[in-house]
Amino acid sequence: MVVLGIESTAHTASVGVVDGSARVRSLATDMYRPAHGGIHPREAANHHAEVFPELVERALVSSGVDVTEIEAIAFSQGPGLGPCLRSGATVARTLAQAWEKPLVPVNHCVAHLEIARVLSGFRDPVLLYASGGNTQVVAFSNGRYRVLGETLDLGIGNFLDKLALSLGATFPGGPILEKWAREGRDVEALPYSVHGMDVSFSGLFTAARAAVARGIRKEDLALSVELTAYAMLCEIAERGLAHLGSRELVLGGGVACNARLRAMVEAMAAPRGIRVYSPPPSLCVDNGAMIAWNGILAHAGGITTEIEDSVVLPRQRTDQVDAPWRAGPSSGGEVSPP
Ligand code: AMP
Ligand code: MG
Repeated sequence: MVVLGIESTAHTASVGVVDGSARVRSLATDMYRPAHGGIHPREAANHHAEVFPELVERALVSSGVDVTEIEAIAFSQGPGLGPCLRSGATVARTLAQAWEKPLVPVNHCVAHLEIARVLSGFRDPVLLYASGGNTQVVAFSNGRYRVLGETLDLGIGNFLDKLALSLGATFPGGPILEKWAREGRDVEALPYSVHGMDVSFSGLFTAARAAVARGIRKEDLALSVELTAYAMLCEIAERGLAHLGSRELVLGGGVACNARLRAMVEAMAAPRGIRVYSPPPSLCVDNGAMIAWNGILAHAGGITTEIEDSVVLPRQRTDQVDAPWRAGPSSGGEVSPP
């Protein structure tokens, strides 16, 4: 089975072709980069509409797959920015109709977990999902993926981007802060906001801006912010793992490309005997391959949508979608890729 997947929840337009053994046959991605400031949903959606025809063509040609071999078209249904989601869904509907293929809706957050799960070979991992708009700890239980903890305000990536922008960097700011942080020396104490299983970043942002006003070196600020924010993520991931008695952790989302976050997660996990897997950067950030792979699982689980019902769901929650491809009532459910 081969599925073509379309991703367009935020700044990234991406098309992936994946087969039933989770081999990524091709991946074509193009990221919207705002000229100044943060992401503008309408501009991003226009960018996606412009680049998608070429991305589809490129993904198809480089996959070596014939259209007749494609069994379904999968697309990110949510959560995400409405205009961006609609750009991708329009392309998906068009392809499904033109090629007479079933259309498979995919939850973006679940797709991050599923691609990491299959690549890791882990059976039932907890996901630490750290991206631009989302920050969650997710695990499977009773037929669905559940959010164990999450941000109460900004996504961690948006927080890093906003902070970097206010210091004169361009979007995306996370990698720029990472570079600055490598030159950091003095660590400043900043607000550490963990509320049970949840985190928040707005107080950290305000305090970071105040430190800038006091003249902190941007390298020291970047180091202090990374240490504080990533420790918060490690804490809620660790508590989630402890609660479930799980020994498998996967990372996902663009911020999971960060070397310091990966090292801190490893340092948390090793003493507990927890194995950690981080996908390669191209599959950690938003990408069409994870949508295609989740499309394969969902299609095998009987999930399709008619075109007229294929509305995008910008606020769709991870725990609002069934995961029928995961057998069993509890988190010990069996994994059987088709
Ligand atoms: P995503 O939304 O998953 O595509 O990820 C995009 C987010 O990841 C943006 O907020 C980026 O600033 C952030 N990001 C990407 N690479 C890094 C990195 N190396 N360190 C920290 N943040 C990063
Ligand atoms: Mg994402």
